[in-house]
Amino acid sequence: MIDPDRFRELIQKRIDVLLPSREKNNKRTNSVELDQTRVGRLSRMDAMQMQQMELALSRRQQTELIGLKRALSRLDSGEYGECEECGEEIDPRRLEIDPIATLCISCAQRKET
Ligand SMILES: [Zn+2]
Repeated sequence: MIDPDRFRELIQKRIDVLLPSREKNNKRTNSVELDQTRVGRLSRMDAMQMQQMELALSRRQQTELIGLKRALSRLDSGEYGECEECGEEIDPRRLEIDPIATLCISCAQRKET
């Protein structure tokens, strides 16, 4: 059985870590465009590469945040831990590692192959 309180806490903790770091990231990404002098010794190429990496990171964080918020609303509606594909319960050990998982292991594996 899944303990909703436990996972709510786990998810909330991830959000608490992600939100501030994403905001910092967004500010940085914006300032690269606005302020070329900030780049300093870095060549323009390096700066662009770094910007790409930061963009990729912030996209990943955005995706994870959306997943976390969806997980919270599934917790509220009592659907958390149910596989979206087959309706079986997702192994809590799997959720512990990846609290935003919406598929059980066998469905996830089937989708990958
Ligand atoms: Zn499944």
